[in-house]
Amino acid sequence: MNNIFVIGVGLIGGSLAIDIKKNNPNAVIHGIGRNDNTLDEALALKLIDKKATLEDLNQADLVIVSIPVDATVKILPTVLDNISDTGLVVDVGSTKLDICKVVENHPKRRNFLAMHPIAGTEYSGPSAAIEGLFVGKTNIVCEVEKTTFKLQEKALKLFTDIGMRIRYMNPEAHDKHIAYVSHLSHISSFMLGKTVIEKEKNERDIFDMAGSGFASTVRLAKSSPEMWTPIFKQNKDNVIETLEEYINNLTHFKDLMKGDDFEAIFNEMKQTNHIKEILNGIN
Ligand code: NAP
Repeated sequence: MNNIFVIGVGLIGGSLAIDIKKNNPNAVIHGIGRNDNTLDEALALKLIDKKATLEDLNQADLVIVSIPVDATVKILPTVLDNISDTGLVVDVGSTKLDICKVVENHPKRRNFLAMHPIAGTEYSGPSAAIEGLFVGKTNIVCEVEKTTFKLQEKALKLFTDIGMRIRYMNPEAHDKHIAYVSHLSHISSFMLGKTVIEKEKNERDIFDMAGSGFASTVRLAKSSPEMWTPIFKQNKDNVIETLEEYINNLTHFKDLMKGDDFEAIFNEMKQTNHIKEILNGIN
């Protein structure tokens, strides 16, 4: 892999560039983006070696598409149009169904691998890129059978070399499960943040009283709306389903409070404490 192109050198694209370059010191990392200042920042941070454009993609051994999922759907057919017969294109989008659909009949479909590295932080842009972000994390790969075997092998090596374990899933299952474990958590954090900010207009003291529990629960509310709005749009049906279940649980909790049923409230929390074992499994 000599010529690696990263479209969107932000948190994920930039972090991949750092780790891949570390394992392949001779590789040249080319950055592509819509905004020249962002590419200059990526150059200054040494995330990329050169700036490039979509026209240069015929030289690519690997292209990583790491922009918001609506932009990915728009750009992916053009990226595949421009790639050579031996080039590999991967995307890292947080939704998979619409992305897989837009290239399903593309003549170069076999040069494409759809994936979702389950790693990240609440920060964005080139300055958010960090070394080692993917160590011990899962990379969900979708429709692997639609990619040529040789390119599958290349991708597998590349991503296991940076410390990831690979899990295979179909795009429908990916989007359904990820709505619960990722998309709902972000909405819940955004709306908790909103609830407290609205209250703060009248009660400034609330911020003096908020502790680390508040900070860790609203951490995800710092995430980029530019990245998250298209995710919610593409995964609308699954996300609405998770919200309905979550709202039912909140309403049930409120009803128990109103009915002074604190024994039931104790039991609800006791049962949910099982999350400790689940989180230990993740860490
Ligand atoms: P990010 O830090 O905001 O990086 C996105 C980069 O793409 C920025 O450099 C941005 O630069 C550029 N960009 C934005 N819109 C573009 C467009 N229309 N055309 C070309 N470049 C564009 O976002 P990220 O967190 O790395 O997310 C990138 C992808 O990874 C998304 O598909 C996301 O769903 C997925 N993902 C994110 C996480 C996470 O935790 N953050 C985890 C796994 C996967 P300018 O705005 O300056 O153009």
